[in-house]
Parts: sequence; C-alpha cells; structure tokens
Amino acid sequence: MSTNEQNREVLGQGVMNVGEGARIFPDVEACIDCGGCVVACKRTWDVGPQEQRISISTMLEGQEADEGFNHRSSQALAEGASPGETSIPMQCYHCENAPCVSVCPVDSLIKKENGFVEVRDDLCIGCQYCLSACPFGAPQFPDSNDGSAQVFGTGGTMDKCTMCEERQHVGKGPACAEECATDAILVGDAAEIADEMEKRGSAPFFNDQAMEIIFGEEAGEFS
Ligand code: SF4
Ligand code: SF4
Repeated sequence: MSTNEQNREVLGQGVMNVGEGARIFPDVEACIDCGGCVVACKRTWDVGPQEQRISISTMLEGQEADEGFNHRSSQALAEGASPGETSIPMQCYHCENAPCVSVCPVDSLIKKENGFVEVRDDLCIGCQYCLSACPFGAPQFPDSNDGSAQVFGTGGTMDKCTMCEERQHVGKGPACAEECATDAILVGDAAEIADEMEKRGSAPFFNDQAMEIIFGEEAGEFS
C-alpha cells in the first residue's frame, strides 16, 4: 500500500465509536493547529466570542531538554534552534478519575453512568474550584462578569465540553472530531483509541499521571 493510500485509510477513522463508554482524546501528532475543531464547536453550540469549549495549545518541542525553553522561544529561535511545534487540542476529556468532580462542593459536576462528565448548571455556585483542579484547562466561566455573578460575587456558571452527547444520541460523533481534517481528535473506547494511535505510530502527549486521571485503569491500554 502506498503512503497516500495509508494516509487515506487513517483519515476518516477519528470517530470509531460513540455512546456509552466512548472517550475523547487528542492525537497531537496529527494536529495541524488549523482551528477547525474550535469553529465546529462554536457553530454547533452557539458558543460566544469570548468563550471556547476547546482550544489549541501550541508549544515548542524539546521543552524537556532545556528548562524555560518555551518562555524564551524567540531567543531560542534567534540562537538557531528549530525545535518544531506541538499543538494540543485541549478540552474536557471526561476523565475517569475526574478531579473536578472530586472537588465540586455542591455536586454540580457528576460522572454519569455513560462515562461523560456533566455540569448541572442550576447547582453551580461559581466557586471555580473545578478550574483549579482540572489539569487540562477545560472549565470555562463565560458569565463571571455579568448579572448575578456580579451581584452575588460568584465566578459565574461553569461551562465546558459536553462531548456532544445530543449528537451521539443520533449516532453522530462530537462536532470537533467530525470536522477535524486530520482526525487529530479521536473518539472511541480506550482500547480503540490506543489501537488507532498505535497504527498511526502516535504516542499520547500526556504523562502517566495525567493518563491515569483520564483513563483510570484503562491507561494501561496505551503502554
Ligand atoms: S478534570 Fe477537566 S478534563 Fe477532566 S473531566 Fe473535569 S473538566 Fe473535564
Ligand atoms: S464552580 Fe460550580 S462546577 Fe465548579 S466546583 Fe464550583 S460549584 Fe462545582
């Protein structure tokens, strides 16, 4: 099989499975930082201009080799270093051991039986504990400066990726994953995602501790 044929086989395989037990996970080696996922999410859920339920975090490669490398990237480039970049689609990964659920004092955040982490808007008191606890920057507080948030001094109501559960009910994948031109956002169970990444020769970006937060015992599927 030619390289082009292999590439075509990979494209279109980003959404392997939806519904109960499905997970969402980035293949950072496929992400080209085009922002298509951000646009797809905003369009699907009418997310306002000041808010993103998914964002692309881009950093220089080789950050482990040299402390502070990312903070002085222009200097590094001027010195002739050309480390390349890694772009990571960051959103709620609906963690198995979700720290946000553990810290929420009013049970606004729940891990549902189908595996999705849901925020129950009517219970949220805007304490923003979840923002501190989430390692992936997923919780957003779009209304932290208006209305009742100002009057009562809360941090607004938490908002984040819903895993497009309503789309999944009709057999569709999350909009970000379906829109991604390079299938950098994978949807399936842990074994399917691990298998797909192995086929592509991709490795998870996150360290062991983060992988255990996201996948629990199933993090072992990636080793
Ligand atoms: S810790 Fe962050 S990524 Fe994990 S379920 Fe909570 S909000 Fe989502
Ligand atoms: S901001 Fe809302 S969802 Fe987050 S921990 Fe506080 S009450 Fe829970």
